[in-house]
Amino acid sequence: MVLKLKQKIALGAAFLFTLLMLVGAVSFIYFNKSIANQNDILRDNYESIDYTQNMLHALDIWNTDSIAAKKIFEDNLQKQEANITEKGEDTLTQNLHSYYYLSKAQYETQIRYYINKIMQLNLAAIIHKNENAEKNTDDAKFYITILITICALVGFTFIFNFPGIIANPIAKLTDGIKAIAAKNYSQRIHLNRKDEFADLANAFNYMAEELDKYEHSNLAKILFEKQRAETVINALKDASIGIDNNGIILFANQQALQLLNVKEGDIVGRSKEVFAKQNDLFNYLLKEESNQPFKIVVDNKEQFFSKETVDINNSNGVAGIVIVLKNITPFKELDVAKTNFIATVSHELKTPLASSDFSLKLLEDERIGTLNKEQKELVQSLRGDNQRLLKILSELLDLTQVESGKIHLHLQSVEPFLILERALKAITTAATEKNISFSITQNVTDNIQADEEKTSWVLINLLTNAIKYSAENSTIQINIQQTENKVEFSVKDTGKGIPEEFLPKVFDRFFKVPGTEKTGTGLGLAISKEFIEAMGGTISAESKLKEGSRFWFQLNTV
Ligand code: ADP
Repeated sequence: MVLKLKQKIALGAAFLFTLLMLVGAVSFIYFNKSIANQNDILRDNYESIDYTQNMLHALDIWNTDSIAAKKIFEDNLQKQEANITEKGEDTLTQNLHSYYYLSKAQYETQIRYYINKIMQLNLAAIIHKNENAEKNTDDAKFYITILITICALVGFTFIFNFPGIIANPIAKLTDGIKAIAAKNYSQRIHLNRKDEFADLANAFNYMAEELDKYEHSNLAKILFEKQRAETVINALKDASIGIDNNGIILFANQQALQLLNVKEGDIVGRSKEVFAKQNDLFNYLLKEESNQPFKIVVDNKEQFFSKETVDINNSNGVAGIVIVLKNITPFKELDVAKTNFIATVSHELKTPLASSDFSLKLLEDERIGTLNKEQKELVQSLRGDNQRLLKILSELLDLTQVESGKIHLHLQSVEPFLILERALKAITTAATEKNISFSITQNVTDNIQADEEKTSWVLINLLTNAIKYSAENSTIQINIQQTENKVEFSVKDTGKGIPEEFLPKVFDRFFKVPGTEKTGTGLGLAISKEFIEAMGGTISAESKLKEGSRFWFQLNTV
């Protein structure tokens, strides 16, 4: 029969309890026995000795006080007759009785003899009973010692074994639970017993097995998903690099590995900072925040790429980023062809337009001949169209310069006020036509490091726009001021303003705020931005619809 832990504990405790009861019972029995012996001795023998002694005493005093002696003798004889306890005591007491009542005086010797006999018989009985009592006590000691020894042995066995019986499986279970918590689902517990702990271990093993199965099925699913994602990423034409929120590089597809010129093992799983120190291109990709196209030489061929950073989102928010590099070389080649085409066409058109402008100017000259009123108006309108065409062509030519990256800057130390003077001269006619005045403030001490012509061009462009989009008779504020090592040129008008949603786009090429009636290419601000940035400056705008706009640019002092 297999005992459960509960039964084992109950049995152990019951066994100890039984032993204790036995010790108690044995002690009780022997204790009682010993008291009974003592009582027996007192009652049976000690009292007889007392009677006999009294009778001897009565005989001794007989001659002096016969009446008292007689009474004592007879009383004690009577008591002795009632306390016959030993074998032979009965005959001795009867003989004593007989001799006494026959004649005390005649048989005194016999009387004394029987009294002594009775006394000796009781003394012998006391000695015998005492011996018996001692033997009983020894027996009791012996049995109680045996029982206590057994008790102690069982108790010690219990003390040494019982904590282990409970604690060992608990320790094993604790280890098992820790292993499971650490995802070691192969952990099993073997207890080699058949009690409640064995049931618990079986339940634990079952749980671990189920977790193991679940983990494996999950792992298989995750591995499948990983392979799928890798296949998709590798099939992408664009180079892609995934980085998690902790800065660990999660993946890099074949195209990315080729561009970075590394093997997968050298990049995947590494920290982006550590890898950036070893790979210049990766370092550039991490640091570069603008999305400007950049050039990489691959297989001795110049290739152009644009960088895009896409967030990886999960339920907890952004879990990482994917850097995607798009190869835009074919577009770049087309763009260059377009730029060259525009440059050629603009250049070719500019010469005949300039000469026709000159011819029209000559036609207006009275010395060549007088034109009637209609002819004059026709020539003036032709000249206006010509001028506009020439302006567009010159902006297109500037744009081609910007696009081909061939901005020729003549950087020198320039006095800011000279730039303002030059710009004001160029826009005077336009301003006078609309009766627009200027309020100028300036607070500059240093010269700026700039290309005078291009900076003037930008300021003229800002002023032209301000005049163009302002109402007649209004005032334009021009402010030139220095803060530390920068000089800011600001043009503020009270014109129609720019809607908030279009403001970030005004520096884009060919952008015109929808609904703008005024003529223009939408290139002026884009070219201005390129010029200012090429000189190491910044350009910006703020505007409020129907209240006006402020455009400003900053350049470094010398
Ligand atoms: P454009 O030659 O058409 O003026 P710009 O690049 O100079 O080209 O300006 C782009 C667009 O920004 C303009 O079409 C106009 O809609 C808007 N814009 C520029 N300056 C102002 C201004 N001062 N007030 C209102 N709108 C402006």
